[in-house]
Amino acid sequence: MRTAARIDRLPPYLFAEIDRKVAEARGRGADIISFGVGDPDLPTPDHVVEALREAALDPATHRYPSYVGMPELRSAIASFYERRFKVSLDPDNAIQPLVGIKEGIFHLPVAFVDQGQVALIPDPAYPVYETGTLLAGGVPHLVPLREENDFLPDLGSIPKDVLERASVLWLNFPGNPSAATVERVFFEDAVEFCMRHDLLLAHDAAYAEITYDGYVAPSVLEVEGAEECAVEFYSLSKTYNMTGWRIGWVAGAPVAIEAIKRLKTNIDSGIFDAVQRAAIAALEGPQDQLRDTVERYRARRDLLCEGLASMGIEVSPPRGSIYLWVPVPEGHTSESFATFLLEEAAIVVAPGNGYGPSGEGFVRFSLTVSDERLAEGVERLRRVVA
Ligand SMILES: *Cc1c(COP(=O)(O)O)cnc(C)c1O
Repeated sequence: MRTAARIDRLPPYLFAEIDRKVAEARGRGADIISFGVGDPDLPTPDHVVEALREAALDPATHRYPSYVGMPELRSAIASFYERRFKVSLDPDNAIQPLVGIKEGIFHLPVAFVDQGQVALIPDPAYPVYETGTLLAGGVPHLVPLREENDFLPDLGSIPKDVLERASVLWLNFPGNPSAATVERVFFEDAVEFCMRHDLLLAHDAAYAEITYDGYVAPSVLEVEGAEECAVEFYSLSKTYNMTGWRIGWVAGAPVAIEAIKRLKTNIDSGIFDAVQRAAIAALEGPQDQLRDTVERYRARRDLLCEGLASMGIEVSPPRGSIYLWVPVPEGHTSESFATFLLEEAAIVVAPGNGYGPSGEGFVRFSLTVSDERLAEGVERLRRVVA
């Protein structure tokens, strides 16, 4: 048996590798604290679980769901965009529910990147923008996010010949792994750039609700012109602690949504209706648990920043996301520092170079560790890094 060349070219998924290392260390009896994977430790709100329970008891939810999602869910998403961003979206042609946004992100290049065409991808970034492009036969062009530029891409620095072959620009704010945030004016420039160069702007807003210190994340769809050239991916995973449920959506330019719909009808058969009803409950129900979750992350962010500062590692507290993007101490690489922390402190972090070459020199700490274990982690860091 012979695997396809495209599988041989595909790197193992970063977090699958981290999971493997953690399992191995735990197998040796190590008391591991994992800051490695961004998977919320807090539970899904009770009223959402209850909505799923009730819906699952209704045999009407047991059959194939609709390809385009329940009309009630698309309406709830449109109302959410109206309330949250003052953006009007037509539920019938500007919104497509997804089986978690990873699915839609991975598939988007199949619909928009022809063989040999370029996708502009931030570096460092969530790995799926690049792997989706590769499997579609596209060519990733990495746009570095540098610390001196507040981890924003310098769109003006992309070479002209690359732009001529490009069809998609990926953005992600609040950013994973860099935790960078933007104001609306950044999106105004990006939309203008994409119009000028005939690009689809694909924005990943996975962390739009996880923000601190009064900062409110904008949507790219707030910007004039975005309805013609942009789509936004929005996930319930991080907002409502629903990573296991697999539901999110893509919204924006109807031409793009139409292409994604056509692709998806050929791939999956929709999202379990009970999960869709639970998603409606999440969007339309009480939001107090979201506020509590964000407050918990803020307290953890501050604790970890203070702990790192006391070891001489300065990280300014980010305004969004569930991550700290931490420069490694002198003399270390991302990998050597991650290995050092694992061996000396039984602490797992994600090496920055796993998110792209410009991530070298950083590691990512996720704040999805219980308060108690996080405090213990900070103590261990103090002991080994000093
Ligand atoms: C977690 C994450 C996702 C995945 O979201 P799902 O809806 O759970 O698939 C996508 N993008 C970024 C940047 C993420 O951090």
